[in-house]
Amino acid sequence: MSVPSPVHVAIDHPGAGQMTIFWSDGHESVYPLADIRKACPCATCRELKRQQQESGGLMLVAGPGLSASAEVVDVTTVGRYGLQLTWKDGHNTGIYTHEFLRKMCPCPLCQGSDE
Ligand SMILES: [Zn+2]
Ligand SMILES: [Zn+2]
Repeated sequence: MSVPSPVHVAIDHPGAGQMTIFWSDGHESVYPLADIRKACPCATCRELKRQQQESGGLMLVAGPGLSASAEVVDVTTVGRYGLQLTWKDGHNTGIYTHEFLRKMCPCPLCQGSDE
């Protein structure tokens, strides 16, 4: 099965804390930006998460940008496979692939379909 691609990405209200993706197959995903930021796939954030896990999560609020900067200021298409998000704190090294984003869709339909 091929992965649907986003046809439109909307950050309706800056500060509202959510992002909507309209997919090529007609599906619509609404993501809390905080969750997207926490799932940032870049090397820096992955390393940060690894350290947090090792320290039992105590550093969670101290880590740079995990909650305070959960606001997206720009969305760029990367090739045919992903989206690059620029966060309010300037962080923009994470490339979110379409497949990754689609798997993250929090709607009951998506979350219930891949057991
Ligand atoms: Zn990152
Ligand atoms: Zn969904």
